[in-house]
Amino acid sequence: MPCLRRIFAPRLVRLKAGALDRVSIYLKREGWRSPLLLISEGLPDHIVQRIVNTCQLAQTLVVEDASVETEKILIGSLVDPLDCVIGLGGGKTIDLAKSIAFRLGLPFLAIPTSLSNDGFCSPNSSLTSEGKRFTQKARLPVGVVVDLEVVQQAPMSLWLSGVGDLVAKRTAIFDWRRAFHTDGTEFDDLAALLSDASVYQFLAYPQRDTKGIKLLAQGLLFNGVAMEMAGCSRPASGSEHLISHALDLLSENPRLHGLQVGLATYWMGLVQGQNMDDIDALFEITGFWNHWKQNPMSRADWIDALEHAPEIKPGFVTVLSEQDMRKRAADILLTDQRVSQCLC
Ligand SMILES: [Zn+2]
Repeated sequence: MPCLRRIFAPRLVRLKAGALDRVSIYLKREGWRSPLLLISEGLPDHIVQRIVNTCQLAQTLVVEDASVETEKILIGSLVDPLDCVIGLGGGKTIDLAKSIAFRLGLPFLAIPTSLSNDGFCSPNSSLTSEGKRFTQKARLPVGVVVDLEVVQQAPMSLWLSGVGDLVAKRTAIFDWRRAFHTDGTEFDDLAALLSDASVYQFLAYPQRDTKGIKLLAQGLLFNGVAMEMAGCSRPASGSEHLISHALDLLSENPRLHGLQVGLATYWMGLVQGQNMDDIDALFEITGFWNHWKQNPMSRADWIDALEHAPEIKPGFVTVLSEQDMRKRAADILLTDQRVSQCLC
């Protein structure tokens, strides 16, 4: 039965207002009595207290950054015994908590307080080493708790970053199909469908209210599950992510992951010959274009990123693997009005 499979995916998923106050109940249900809690530095006290005052915890540590250096120090300071790891806060804390849980072989509970990318439910963790970002294998969380009211209070730029990371599936799936036809890269129909559908769900209601935030959380969560199903990052990451990774390496002032990815998605979509009118309209409604207009990035950085993007993952076929497509991308970067207004 080669077409059947079993995947490791979260079974506890709570996307609701007030979910933070119910974490102690979730922990009891799972039988976790000695959790390690990692919280983001600077997270408002009223959020932290809702967990610390209600949950039985073995240890609480504050996370300043998501570096391997910090990870080593934190692991060295852990008490025994621990039976799960909880990450409460922003993307860096979630990534570090996920990585520590993976190293210790413990279940991981993700409680993101913003939705700036799909990392809260992805099978990888993004860390830095000596200041440079890299991605390493981890495991999906066993549980994801998103308090919609808490996430709604996160800064607008983080919400827009999440929107950008979600729409990337449009170009990622296109690149994946291209790779399947070009070099026989294995394609997973269901993973691609799940990833694609998550974008359309959000496109139907792209609002920054409880319902829209729930759809964004759902969409980003399904991306992670799709990656786990496919056993690779293809359902959520293509040429648009290569551009963003290149910017992280080359630019002196890189922006939030999802902001870069979203703009690169619109650009790469045009290079791929896709109709990007719906993404254009989405960026207009959500304020994504406006955010970029107010905070433009160096055009030279984006030209550099285009040149170096194919080197980020050698052998990873995308639209940028072909020289004439890179030429087309350079032309669009200079002439498209929407892209141009985001650069200076
Ligand atoms: Zn991403």
